[in-house]
Amino acid sequence: MVVFPTETVFGIGAASDNEDACLRIYQIKGRPSDNPLIAHFSSIDAIKKVCYVNEVANQLLCEFSPGPFTLVLPKTDPKIFPKQLPTLAVRIPKNPVIREWIEACGSPISAPSANLSGRPSLTRMTDVVRYFDGIVDGILIAEEPNLGIESTVLGLTTEVPVLLRPGSIESQALRRFLPNLVIPNEIKSKDSKSEDSKTNQSFVPLSPGMKYKHYAPNAKVVLLETEIFLSTFSKQGMDPKFAWIGFSFGSKTLPEVLGGNRVLCVANNIDYMAKLYAFFESCDLEGYNRIYCEMPREEEGREGLLNRLEKAAATSFE
Ligand code: AMP
Ligand code: MG
Repeated sequence: MVVFPTETVFGIGAASDNEDACLRIYQIKGRPSDNPLIAHFSSIDAIKKVCYVNEVANQLLCEFSPGPFTLVLPKTDPKIFPKQLPTLAVRIPKNPVIREWIEACGSPISAPSANLSGRPSLTRMTDVVRYFDGIVDGILIAEEPNLGIESTVLGLTTEVPVLLRPGSIESQALRRFLPNLVIPNEIKSKDSKSEDSKTNQSFVPLSPGMKYKHYAPNAKVVLLETEIFLSTFSKQGMDPKFAWIGFSFGSKTLPEVLGGNRVLCVANNIDYMAKLYAFFESCDLEGYNRIYCEMPREEEGREGLLNRLEKAAATSFE
């Protein structure tokens, strides 16, 4: 079992045809057993050996792979983990070194994010070593993740295509190929929730991962619109127990630590998502008990970033 970097976050992987090794990943992470793993491949041809790839799936893979893009497809090879499921989530990572390693393994690599279940995914080698040194068989050293949030997951095994997890590849880009793309209420941002979705108390999750509160540090995450974020900062900005991440802190030019506060100023949504999980890790390490996060901007990257911030700020699954 090996921890390896991808362009999104670090993964913890085992050969997809080795069920025992794949099951060990669940033990190490404390991952619920009904949440399947993404299989990582070196090429589209390798995916075609174990899944049914129709024309639209092929187009999507050609457009968005290698990259932060996962497709759920009908599985044709029952030996691939998880054996009992007729579907398989597939992804081709961007870094050629990682693809060469997968190719050399002679099997796809089933891998969830390398973190303890429910916590933020890891994006820094130092965090990976702290959590996994001595626990896994190896840590592959290659370029660290630069996108910072997990891949977009798109389901193609239902009557209509479904966005199962937002990410860097946004629904607007997917709609060029899939005009009938459905975004389930469960992953719609709260600020865009329609009236009828509020009354939808229970639902059947389309992707098992949708059920769980996720990406959350020990510190309480508080997500605030810019205006409230700024007024809260000016009132509580000197409280040493709190941490802040956002675009703007008024006209102040800030040092990283202000009166015992941890403050991180980001340039745009892309920069924000690249730094978010590492910031969460640092805040937990240093014992901050609350992290104030500014709402993402109405620009590229908002969909995935807002989803992660809302899930991290949730007290339980809603
Ligand atoms: P992680 O690997 O922790 O980043 O999470 C993988 C995501 O892909 C989770 O949200 C899973 O629920 C989802 N996923 C993996 N395999 C499938 C599948 N066969 N069908 C639907 N969703 C899947
Ligand atoms: Mg994960």
